[in-house]
Amino acid sequence: ALGPRLVKNALYTFVRPEPTKDPELLAVSPAAVRDLHLKPDIENDPDFLATVSGNKIISWDLESDEGIYPWAQCYGGYQFGQWAGQLGDGRAISLFETTPDPKTGVRYELQLKGAGKTPYSRFADGKAVLRSSIREFVVSEHLNALGIPSTRALSLVLAPKARVMRERIEPGAIVCRFAQSWIRLGTFDLPRSRGDRKTLRHLSTYVAEHVFQGWESLPGAFDAESPLEVSRGIPKDEIIGEGKDAQNRFSRLYREVCRRNAKTVAAWQAYGFMNGVLNTDNTSIFGLSIDFGPFAFMDAFDPTYTPNHDDHMLRYSYRNQPTIIWWNLVRLGEALGELIGAGAKCDDETFVHEGVQKDYVDELVARAENLIEKAGEEFKTVFMAEYKRLMTKRFGLREFKESDFDALYSEWLDTLQAHELDFNHSFRRLGSVKLEEIDTDEKRKEVAGRFFHQLGVEGGEDKARERIAKWLEKWRARALEDWGEGNDEERAEAMRKVNPNFVARSWILDELIQRVEHKGERDILKDIMKMALNPFEEEWGWNKDEEERFCGDVPKSCGLMQCSCSS
Ligand code: AMP
Ligand code: MG
Ligand code: MG
Repeated sequence: ALGPRLVKNALYTFVRPEPTKDPELLAVSPAAVRDLHLKPDIENDPDFLATVSGNKIISWDLESDEGIYPWAQCYGGYQFGQWAGQLGDGRAISLFETTPDPKTGVRYELQLKGAGKTPYSRFADGKAVLRSSIREFVVSEHLNALGIPSTRALSLVLAPKARVMRERIEPGAIVCRFAQSWIRLGTFDLPRSRGDRKTLRHLSTYVAEHVFQGWESLPGAFDAESPLEVSRGIPKDEIIGEGKDAQNRFSRLYREVCRRNAKTVAAWQAYGFMNGVLNTDNTSIFGLSIDFGPFAFMDAFDPTYTPNHDDHMLRYSYRNQPTIIWWNLVRLGEALGELIGAGAKCDDETFVHEGVQKDYVDELVARAENLIEKAGEEFKTVFMAEYKRLMTKRFGLREFKESDFDALYSEWLDTLQAHELDFNHSFRRLGSVKLEEIDTDEKRKEVAGRFFHQLGVEGGEDKARERIAKWLEKWRARALEDWGEGNDEERAEAMRKVNPNFVARSWILDELIQRVEHKGERDILKDIMKMALNPFEEEWGWNKDEEERFCGDVPKSCGLMQCSCSS
């Protein structure tokens, strides 16, 4: 067996999953089966269960000793702002890569989480408990269905014989998950902390060529005017700008990582999703939502809310997420410092490896600061553009107007906060308001009542109604401006497509866990997945009352729950 250890000059270790006794396949994501081009009835295939429970390595031929052997990644990270040293995949083991659709060329790395110890397990057991596995399984697929970039989940397996010790003894589970990349910002932090320049260069080249599929695919010029359409077609390796602003392939890689993460965190803000532990090892190089521990969706709107019970400083609260992602990206910029500061010379392998004076390296790193700063401006621009794009849609508008920011967005969010209204329900409810229902002040006050939910507004209801009514008047004018008269059904339809009816909230996941783990229910997983995978639907055809309950108000006792990190 491989004991915990420090692994140097390497970014992964070959390691075999532990076998699982009597595994039970609890759920498969139909969306994942489709996206991986697996056969629709794959769940009945015994080889499938054997693979996703770690009992069979289909990519490795035992007799000839050939194929792909599973591996665990080595990375480090800043946890809560402090350097934490080597971390790595302590309970995740990658199986193989696959390109299901040669036309798109999208490649996924399949991985088991909870399949046993690796050299990176440190003091822990390499296992995952059922409750956190259910949460990860559902939310990965749900985020993807909401259009938010995320790592994915294919299957959820119960390991009934694995008794996992946490606060109590709990059943174990294995999630088979997949992503275009499992590399984290923390993967770069580790060689940086060791002054391992060779590995950093190797890793960066690998990420650009393998993960991003070529330097050519990385856009070049800074283009603040059109941040989401950053011009492509810049000649390979050409340096843009002059002197300190010179950009090379590594700068372009860095900026692409920044832009992707800017868009993803913008989507989190627009949909009220909180990761809960945004350490650098939980921030994806590919801009995916990754690592689902104490995550949550916002219920009653409170920008200071953090789902992480141990986050006393509110470092990972809703409103801090964009700042924290940028903080993490600055660490990446520093790790890449020498490579991006070297300008055109970075293309020369020997330049980086051999005979370079330390003070010259320092000079290059200092030159990179300027570029990191510019990338920060770009991060902000891309973040704002994506946030506005998504919010414009969520409000049922077609064009963003500068005045919308204060008059609509801020006032709406302030109102939600002041009266403890539910973030996602309020958007869905707004979508169901017909413009003809709000063409007089009297009617607007009436309609305002629809936004209240059980948790809020006691006592202050009149004030809340008036405030919402005022806001509705402004919103109505903007909707008319964008859509004209007579297109109200079209507007409502557009809103239904971006404002989820079902959101995988903490109270729902908690109930799901209770029912699966303690009551032995199984069908409920399938039913909830139907909703999670099709969150914009009005109904799902399994049980009308249950569907309505799960799309309804947060039960009084369940608002703003927090999770501990134990999983
Ligand atoms: P996280 O808090 O999920 O970001 O995990 C931080 C680090 O702890 C990562 O390196 C994980 O692989 C590792 N880790 C967490 N739980 C376990 C476990 N049960 N067994 C082994 N390693 C773990
Ligand atoms: Mg992690
Ligand atoms: Mg985790």
